[in-house]
Formats: sequence, structure tokens, C-alpha cells
Amino acid sequence: MTRTLERVFIDVEVDSTVAADAALAKKLEEVCPVDIFKAGEGGLEIVAANLDECVLCNLCVEAAPDGSVRVIKLYEQ
Ligand code: SF4
Repeated sequence: MTRTLERVFIDVEVDSTVAADAALAKKLEEVCPVDIFKAGEGGLEIVAANLDECVLCNLCVEAAPDGSVRVIKLYEQ
């Protein structure tokens, strides 16, 4: 699981199986309108600086296998 630290309102968790899947990483990079996902050579990266730009569109959740990507509203916790 990949979890990031530089966020205030939103965090995104991605299962390690998804993070290591190059095709899925590319898909996540394409669907997110605010560039939170970056498909790098080592697999998926979460762009921490963009996390709080999340518009809760759910496109990343729908693009990945059930339950493998989670968008967490930190302000509700
Ligand atoms: S919910 Fe939408 S804006 Fe937020 S990380 Fe997923 S694709 Fe990006």
C-alpha cells in the first residue's frame, strides 16, 4: 500500500499490486483531472503536492479493480 504524507484534506491509498501495474498506473494518470497520479518507471507515484486539488470525481476508483484505490477525506475523520 502506498500512503503519502503531504496532505491536509485528502489522502489517496493505492494497493501495491496496482502501483506496480504499469498499464493501470498509466490509466490512473490519464483519468485524474488534477494530476494526482504519475506513471513513472518504478510504477505509480502519488503526487503529494496535488492531493488537496482532488475534486472527488471517483474516476480513479472506477478505473481500478474494486477496492484497490481509496480516496480518503481526512477532514471527516
Ligand atoms: S477522485 Fe478524481 S480528482 Fe480525486 S484522485 Fe481520484 S481521479 Fe483524481
